[in-house]
Amino acid sequence: MPEVISRLSRAALPVAAVETRLLDIPLVRPHKFSVTTMHTQGVLLIRLVTEDGIVGWGEGVVPGGPWWGGESVEGMTALVERHLAPLVVGQDVLRPEALARHLEGVAAGAPFARAGVEMAAWDAAGRALGVPVHQLLGGAHRDRLPVTWALGAEPSGAVADEARRLLAEGRHGSFKLKMGALPAEQDVARVTAIAGALGGAAPLAVDLNGAWDEHTARRHLPALAEAGVHLVEQPLPAADISGLARLRERSGVAIMADESLRTPADALRLAAAHAADVLAVKIGKSGGLSAVRRIADVAEAAGLGCYGGTAIETSLGTAASAHLFCATAPVRSGTELFGPLLLDDDIVTEPVTYQAGELLLNAGPGFGMTIDEDKVAKYERR
Ligand code: MG
Repeated sequence: MPEVISRLSRAALPVAAVETRLLDIPLVRPHKFSVTTMHTQGVLLIRLVTEDGIVGWGEGVVPGGPWWGGESVEGMTALVERHLAPLVVGQDVLRPEALARHLEGVAAGAPFARAGVEMAAWDAAGRALGVPVHQLLGGAHRDRLPVTWALGAEPSGAVADEARRLLAEGRHGSFKLKMGALPAEQDVARVTAIAGALGGAAPLAVDLNGAWDEHTARRHLPALAEAGVHLVEQPLPAADISGLARLRERSGVAIMADESLRTPADALRLAAAHAADVLAVKIGKSGGLSAVRRIADVAEAAGLGCYGGTAIETSLGTAASAHLFCATAPVRSGTELFGPLLLDDDIVTEPVTYQAGELLLNAGPGFGMTIDEDKVAKYERR
């Protein structure tokens, strides 16, 4: 205890160095989005070292390339090495929120890259103080998070079989399907077939990734609702807030905003326009843990739930999300923190734990993950 008190009373703990490594982790099966298919996941691993030799780890990932938000692991590597790392050196790792705001001020956009650096700072701060990050954030409201599984792009019969098997084995209790890659009629027929086969045995959500226009959505949402789809994620392009509001009002289907929500100001706009029922929050797209907290405050004030999203992180980024989502009260609409289950391997010695469809909050200090140097060497891009 005396040691902890002396650490807590420490004035500052400056960063000595920030290093990056670029990895490619294979997937257990291809992961299909409306415009691209992932076969491997690129991971920018960020190692932050303090002047006292404390190491914090962060992870920069995007969902399968620059299509989602314009950033890529290659671009993030250059940005972190050339612009963010030199700024972070000398800054106080015990003030990760101030550090995140500083990064926000010097790198416009680039939330995924900034988030990776901020993540490493939170991890280092937790390790320096000997506490898990969820305690630094005010303490956990829950110690486990329900995890929706992303079903594949195989024919509807095979996908329904996969869902029924996972349900029977007690491994997942809710599912999400990607839409938008097929013509709308075909896509809706596929989803209604899967929903019909599930027969309401588990909640089923769909994610369009902004692939439809308002007319197409107005035409097809009733069939999806009729089939039992309980939540439609980002049916319209990110900028079409008024379209989302009209769809939400007319269709009666619950709408989740993902691409439309990146900043706290976006959350305020969505709430004011009554354009969403649920907000998908992610560490990467919003520039870090502290920005997600500000979004969650807006959501709670507006009476909206938050859903813990993923950019398909390893156990490191998934543990960071778990610490944040467990410590953030409004994240009460479930999560999709399935990254380590979709990746064929991990980069830590002891991956995060799943139990009966839930991700368990792990102990610290920091995010409580130990990087496996052999795995990092194995997957490092050459
Ligand atoms: Mg999404």
